[in-house]
Amino acid sequence: MKNKKITRKITQGVYVLTTNNGGCVVDAVSQISAGDNPLISVAVMKRNYTNELLKNNKLFALSVIGKDANPEIITTFGMNSMRDINKFESISTFEVEGLNIIEDSLGYMVCEIIDSIDNDTHTLFIGRLVEADVIKDEEAMSYQYYQEHKDELVKVTTNNGETAWVCTICGYVYYGEELPDDFKCPKCGVDKSLFEKSRGNYE
Ligand code: FE
Repeated sequence: MKNKKITRKITQGVYVLTTNNGGCVVDAVSQISAGDNPLISVAVMKRNYTNELLKNNKLFALSVIGKDANPEIITTFGMNSMRDINKFESISTFEVEGLNIIEDSLGYMVCEIIDSIDNDTHTLFIGRLVEADVIKDEEAMSYQYYQEHKDELVKVTTNNGETAWVCTICGYVYYGEELPDDFKCPKCGVDKSLFEKSRGNYE
């Protein structure tokens, strides 16, 4: 492959997907049909706890994250697992159709799951839009913007002089000068080529 980085030019956004008892950050969301209740597809990493939850739930909600949203939302929902923390403790939400919606978002879409397709790393969930609203008419955060501003948005705290490596897929942080050759992300399983060196935010 000559340069896979061109895939980063695919226009994607930043969303918090929530379902009963869980949620995570997703970027691959598309409207894939028209009409009053269009179909929305979303890809969720198989290793995510949220993926397990979605297989047993009927509904999911997508909160659209704005460019100026509090980065805590991304850190909390993107870089942690409900297996370890309660993500809803620190982030303000309100309820629609029994699902948590991020208060500091541009709006939400609630979808009823009608199909799912497993691939090697992700499950593509297809849902029919059943409820939606606009909260703020502001610019949405694009995945590209997130990638370009990750250092400011996601604070990686290191000790003075320490190097941190951040998984570009799930946000897992490895502390150390170099990643071992056979290193695989303990959280999402990708190899070291998908890690980026971070200068960290020294304390
Ligand atoms: Fe990872």
